[in-house]
Amino acid sequence: MAENGTIENGQPEKASPALPHPITHLEVKYTKIFINNEWHPSESGRKFATYNPATGAKICDVEEADKADVDKAVEAARAAGQRGSTWRKMDVSSRGQLLNKLADLIDRDRVLLASMETMDTGKPFLQSFFVDLDGCIKTLRYYAGWADKIHGKTMPVDDNFVCFTKHEPIGVCGAIIPWNFPLLMFMWKIAPALCCGNTVVIKPAEQTPLTALHTAALIKEAGFPPGVVNILPGFGPTAGAAISNHMDIDKVAFTGSTDVGKLIKEAAARSNLKRVTLELGGKNPCIVYGDADLQLAVQEAQHGAFFNQGQCCTAASRVFVEEQVYEEFIKRSVENAKKLVAGDPLDARTSHGPQIDQKQFDKIMELIESGKREGAKLECGGCAIGDRGLFIQPTIFSGVKDHMRIAKEEIFGPVQCIFKFKSQEEVVKRANSTEYGLAAAVFTRSMDRALSVSSALQSGTVWVNCYNALHAQAPFGGYKMSGNGRELGEYALAEYSEVKAVTIKLTEKLY
Ligand code: ADP
Repeated sequence: MAENGTIENGQPEKASPALPHPITHLEVKYTKIFINNEWHPSESGRKFATYNPATGAKICDVEEADKADVDKAVEAARAAGQRGSTWRKMDVSSRGQLLNKLADLIDRDRVLLASMETMDTGKPFLQSFFVDLDGCIKTLRYYAGWADKIHGKTMPVDDNFVCFTKHEPIGVCGAIIPWNFPLLMFMWKIAPALCCGNTVVIKPAEQTPLTALHTAALIKEAGFPPGVVNILPGFGPTAGAAISNHMDIDKVAFTGSTDVGKLIKEAAARSNLKRVTLELGGKNPCIVYGDADLQLAVQEAQHGAFFNQGQCCTAASRVFVEEQVYEEFIKRSVENAKKLVAGDPLDARTSHGPQIDQKQFDKIMELIESGKREGAKLECGGCAIGDRGLFIQPTIFSGVKDHMRIAKEEIFGPVQCIFKFKSQEEVVKRANSTEYGLAAAVFTRSMDRALSVSSALQSGTVWVNCYNALHAQAPFGGYKMSGNGRELGEYALAEYSEVKAVTIKLTEKLY
């Protein structure tokens, strides 16, 4: 355990007693496909392994879902959501109670789930416990509250008609989620879908299937009727493609890469024109003005760049700093980056874990090399850490130019790219000159400037004097190639409902 570079073997000091302690020898109980509230082996008989990225050790084998399993799950989900089913007949407030019950059970198993998430992803345990699990519970409770408040409207037409709208479930909702926030993305998908009365067929990422499968047991324990949520661990081109191509899935929600997002939309268009929401990549600008609270800006920008080992679609990978504070910003950022502690993700003092897998590791290292080759100045990091696990040093480049690959491509690793700017016009233009538009941040003490720049940025989220400030109440999604539609908040309800207009002609004339 050491600062930014090596993992020492020395005895760790005891973590603070006030902090939760992870379960270090976890027994994984649930490894099968979850359909109709029961556990199933895969139709093909195939399984796949899931690994701990901090050690490279295999954790366990999991049943591998493919098209035949997806078909079975869709049939179960269709039956569970049909008119007259327990789920459809349920009082809408009871739907909310089930979501709250699930939140209670997740809270009960929070240490186990956080430990499991850390084992499967490599993210530091305290992050899993405090950030990811907190987000899961809050998302469930937020949508539990909405379940009995999804109102239609009455439209004035003329005295001969009554016209109103009803918001109805779309039907069977497919969901395909990534490995960077496995349980949180699971909740972002199922909570709004269920609160609106849909049923769900969801595929966790192949790298990180375990917490979704444990949650399956909690879904059953909470009392959701069979078939309402079905969980299929498996790979993208097989199980994922079976979901996006399915003729009897009514909507698909996807979080992942822009390239796969395009495939999902194509598949939806070619099959049954299912509704699609996409949350894709980002190359997010973070603008630091000379009048900002510099220490705050350094800390938040760094959190934006290195949180979750940089494996965030919201990562602050382009930091534009006004020229008069540019040198000082770099100096303080380097000092801060060196304080990050890489090591065993289950150790409470670790703040920097490994990357998810070899493919991502290689891609990040290749982009770091391209930064060096193209003339950016490597201020710190730039190398792998140790020879076990997939750790990369928190890396800072300064003097980054807009044409460089590290300025244009999503890195999805712990790499902060710092650019210098001179004028407001210039920085907004450069910030917007990307195919993405997911998140952006502005650091300034001038509210006037913060508001003008927020208006000018082409981005689904703008943070002012903060970063990664996500809340279940606030919509999240992208402009341009960062996606379609919005998750979270009231806005997400529209993505999981069909609106029906009912128009009634009145025949009695009362004049
Ligand atoms: P990453 O490159 O970060 O792993 P992906 O976009 O490939 O991101 O993966 C996100 C999710 O999309 C995962 O659950 C993955 O299995 C799934 N996926 C990958 N390829 C496809 C595909 N062709 N069709 C449907 N889902 C896919």
